[in-house]
Amino acid sequence: MTGRTTKSATRAATDLSRVIASVLGEARFPIDVEAWAVEVSRQQPDPIETIQKVAIDGFDGMLRPHPKRRAWQILYAEQPRYPGRERFTLAHEFGHYLLHRQDLQSGGRADAAPGEEAEYRCLPLHNDRWKEQEARREEEADTFACHLLMPFDDYRAQLGDAEISGALLAHITDRYGVSLTAAVRRWIEFTDKRAAMVVARDGFALWGRASKAAYRSGIFINSGLEIPEKSLAGMGKGGSLATTSRPTSLPSGVWTFARGSEPVKELTFIAERLGVSLTILQFEQYSGYRLEEDEEPWDSYDQFVRPSEDR
Ligand SMILES: [Zn+2]
Repeated sequence: MTGRTTKSATRAATDLSRVIASVLGEARFPIDVEAWAVEVSRQQPDPIETIQKVAIDGFDGMLRPHPKRRAWQILYAEQPRYPGRERFTLAHEFGHYLLHRQDLQSGGRADAAPGEEAEYRCLPLHNDRWKEQEARREEEADTFACHLLMPFDDYRAQLGDAEISGALLAHITDRYGVSLTAAVRRWIEFTDKRAAMVVARDGFALWGRASKAAYRSGIFINSGLEIPEKSLAGMGKGGSLATTSRPTSLPSGVWTFARGSEPVKELTFIAERLGVSLTILQFEQYSGYRLEEDEEPWDSYDQFVRPSEDR
């Protein structure tokens, strides 16, 4: 979670991204993570020997050492109902290999299934510290996956100056082979615009995130935020990625945040099957609020609580 460690994950992804771009050029998307994980690790004394898709419930992926040889194995869950998720999981595990395999060497595993957790849990005395390190490793592996699959410069070039719309997001998710949630989360991370995303179920936000510019102007999305009745999300008026195109302009008074309310453009996608909505809010660049040069970390747990089932 610290700047230093997130930077090393970003750098590892960016370096590899450059190599892939120089080899494959424009044809590199969506990134073939399996092929690159094998190719890159082959040059190490402890390569990734096998990458295997498995059908296990309650399990996303795992990086584990070979019991006898200096080698590694990646297992990842088959996710036919969640397009893009297998690729993200694989990239996440590859990130653990590049960034954390020394930490895991002593029999530890990244992302073991819940029942297996006890095998590598630290002594109770060190439990808090262990949890902290574990959370940091998870965040780093996610950061690596995001940067590898959706390189910032390429993503920005795809958008140009266009407003975010359903059609544009369909292009993005197609190009990178990722889920809508992952694509939007990445955009929120780098956009200079005032924007936010809210993932909600049953009228309340599960989690959300505001762009840096939005955050500085008083837009905070906390889990538990009540979805306004008159918003598209509140009325259940969103569509699917295939059917929703342009954002809808809403007057001041619908969405209200820490420093009040203002007009906003809303785009809401509804995953009927999950009963989950994903809302994108785009604000005017200037709202009349004073933009603060804040010292507080933008990338905080308070703002962003990621449930594993939605990434
Ligand atoms: Zn992990």
